Amino acid sequence: MEAETTPRDPPDDVKRLVRQRCGFGCVECGAPIYHYDHMFDFAEVRRHRPEEITLLCPNRHDEKSRGRLPLELVQQWNASPFNARAKMSKPHPLHYFGNACEFVLGSNTVFNRMGEGNALFRALTIDGRPLLGFRFEQGRLLLNLAIYDHKDQPLFLVEDGELTYRTDQWDIEWVGQTLTVRNGRRKPIVEIRFAVPDQVIVRRARFRMNGIEYCIEPTFAVLTNRGDIHVDVHLEDVWSAVSMGDDAQSAGPAALVLTELNRSVPPSVREENVKHARREAASYLRARNLGDGPAGSGS
Ligand SMILES: [Zn+2]
Repeated sequence: MEAETTPRDPPDDVKRLVRQRCGFGCVECGAPIYHYDHMFDFAEVRRHRPEEITLLCPNRHDEKSRGRLPLELVQQWNASPFNARAKMSKPHPLHYFGNACEFVLGSNTVFNRMGEGNALFRALTIDGRPLLGFRFEQGRLLLNLAIYDHKDQPLFLVEDGELTYRTDQWDIEWVGQTLTVRNGRRKPIVEIRFAVPDQVIVRRARFRMNGIEYCIEPTFAVLTNRGDIHVDVHLEDVWSAVSMGDDAQSAGPAALVLTELNRSVPPSVREENVKHARREAASYLRARNLGDGPAGSGS
């Protein structure tokens, strides 16, 4: 019989509809780590209807499956999910630690040995404001990351190791260590792997502020204002890696300083710069893999 062969795990499209309706978090507390809960026992209904599935954090899900949480209460929460009412999701801790850390930004890497004491390691800075970095405090590594939208409104934030995101997205999903944000069926706009204990791998993201935008894709990074391309750049033991815009020196000397930028570059020109970078990166990496590529940056 067909009904008996229905897999327990809902299809991807059904899961996405449930995530969207629930605001990408537990309907009771907003936690971004959750299980898909068939509100009516799956063993009996044997079907995946998005309106019959909700999101519950591991604690609530465990209580429900052990019969300690009444269905009526879950239905009440489901009717008015926590994250549908909140603008940002509930903060979620990321567990980084150690004396050294690394950012992977497309095909580039920035590695730093933090050493003793308290210190701030900045991978990306715009107008003196760090948008990606680690704060080292008493043996702990506290990640800081800020991704804003075109209107400089926060989309995705990690503040001293606490992750939150804006809940009005098309899709946000955790799979293992990787978090992706999508604004449609195309490629993700954010794809970051939080490879604890000491590594952050940014495969896709656009770090922007005050009209300056640094776009990262799996094979490159590009400043979309001007088309400066970073491919296969590897920095070690720098306290500030890429500094863009004004006030570039206030954070201390950076390894790569990009100043005097036109901030009102039209989106079409920015996209051309991204496309150009994509082609340049592909041909550079192809040449390198054949063994006759130039050493260093492909800018
Ligand atoms: Zn919860």
